[in-house]
Amino acid sequence: MQPVVPLVVPQLRTITVGGALAGVGIEASAFRHGLVHETVASFDVLTGNGRLLHCTPEGEHRALFFGFPNSYGTLGYALRVQVRTQPARAFVALEHRRYRSATDCLEAIARSCEAPDSDYLDGVAFAPDDLVLTRGHFTDAAPWTSDYGGEQVYHRSLRERERDFLTTHDYLWRWDTDWFWCSRHFGAQHPLVRRLLGRERLNSATWQRWMRWNSRWGLTRAWQRLWGRHPESVIQDVDIPLPRAAEFLDFLKREVGIWPVWLCPIRAAPATPRWTLYALQPGVPHLNFGFWDVILDRQAQPPGWHNRRIEAEVTRLGGRKSLYSECWYTEAEFWALHDRPAYRALKAAYDPGSALGDLYAKCTARGGRG
Ligand SMILES: Cc1cc2nc3c(=O)[nH]c(=O)nc-3n(C[C@H](O)[C@H](O)[C@H](O)COP(=O)(O)OP(=O)(O)OC[C@H]3O[C@@H](n4cnc5c(N)ncnc54)[C@H](O)[C@@H]3O)c2cc1C
Repeated sequence: MQPVVPLVVPQLRTITVGGALAGVGIEASAFRHGLVHETVASFDVLTGNGRLLHCTPEGEHRALFFGFPNSYGTLGYALRVQVRTQPARAFVALEHRRYRSATDCLEAIARSCEAPDSDYLDGVAFAPDDLVLTRGHFTDAAPWTSDYGGEQVYHRSLRERERDFLTTHDYLWRWDTDWFWCSRHFGAQHPLVRRLLGRERLNSATWQRWMRWNSRWGLTRAWQRLWGRHPESVIQDVDIPLPRAAEFLDFLKREVGIWPVWLCPIRAAPATPRWTLYALQPGVPHLNFGFWDVILDRQAQPPGWHNRRIEAEVTRLGGRKSLYSECWYTEAEFWALHDRPAYRALKAAYDPGSALGDLYAKCTARGGRG
C-alpha cells in the first residue's frame, strides 16, 4: 500500500491536528497547499453549549467550518479531524541555495509560488544579507541520509552544504530537535551538552517545558535586570503579502534585529471560501516570518513596546499574525482585524453562554493572557 502524508504537517511534534486547526498551522508545503485548515475535509466539534457537530464546507454547520480556524478553542473543541493527504516517498532530497540579496531570494520565492518546482519550500534569513532557501523533493532512493536528531544541528547544515538527504520522517521533524534554533538558549547546541542530554530529550517538548518553567520563576528576567537590562520576549509569527515582504525584512533589520528568521511561503488564497477569522488577502501569495527571541533594552520601555511596533507594521503592510504570538492589540485594533459581527454570530450559535471565553480575552495580553 502506498504510504501517505498529510498535505501540511506543522514542524513541531507537540502540535496536534486540532490545535493546528483551531490555531493556524503551517509548514514548507504551504506554498502548494496553503495553511493546515485549508487541507481539512471535515471535523467533529464539541461546542460550548455541549453539542457534538460534524462540520463540512457544504453542510449545515459550514459557518463553523469556516469560522473555526484562529478561534483557539473559543467556539468549540475539535475531537476528530479529517485531513487530506498526498502520496509519500521514503526520502526527501534537499537543495539549499544561499542568497546574499534579499531581493533575489524573494524573487525566487515568488517564482516558486507561481509555478511550484518542488514538494517543499522554506527558508531562513540568518542576516539581512545571508538567506538560504531550501527546496525538498520526494525521492525513492538516497545516496546517504543525514541525522539531525543527535549531535548534528539542522539549521547549521543549511549554510554548510548544498545538497542533503533525509528520511521523510526526519524531514518532517527536522525543526523539532532544536525548536528551530531556540535550543541555543539552553546551551543545547554544544556537542557535549547534546551528548549529556541524549536524543530522547532533544525535542521541542523539552525546550517548551524548560521555557515555561523559566518564565514561571522569572529567572532570565531577574538575571538580566541584575545587569541593568530590560528584557522583552518577542515571539512572533506573521504572514505578510509577498509583494510587501521586502519592506517587512527592512523593518526587521532596522527596528527588531532578531536573527535568524524562519521564512515560509504560502500560496495565494482563492477569494472563496473566506476563512472568517483568518482571511488573508485573496489572490496574493504571503510569506510567513517566524522569529522568537528576547530583546534586551538598556532603558525601560512600556510593556509590549517591541511587540506593539511589530503589530503596527504587520497591519500597515496588510498582513496577519498568529494569535499564539505575543499579542498586545487594544480591543478596538483587534476587532478591526478580526470580523467581530461574524464572531458574535458564531458565539451566539455555538457558545451562547460563553463557556469557552472570548477570543480577545484569551489571546491578548491586554485581554488578560499576559
Ligand atoms: C515557539 C512556537 C513555534 C511554533 N512554530 C510553529 C510552526 O513552525 N508551525 C506551525 O504550524 N505552528 C507553529 N506554532 C503554532 C502552533 O501551530 C499553534 O500554536 C497551535 O495552535 C498549537 O497547537 P497545539 O496542538 O500545540 O495546541 P495547544 O498549544 O495545546 O493549544 C493552543 C490553542 O488551541 C486550542 N486548541 C488546542 N487543541 C484544540 C482543539 N482540538 N480544538 C479546539 N481548540 C484547540 C487551545 O485551547 C489553545 O487555545 C508555534 C508555536 C510556538 C509557541
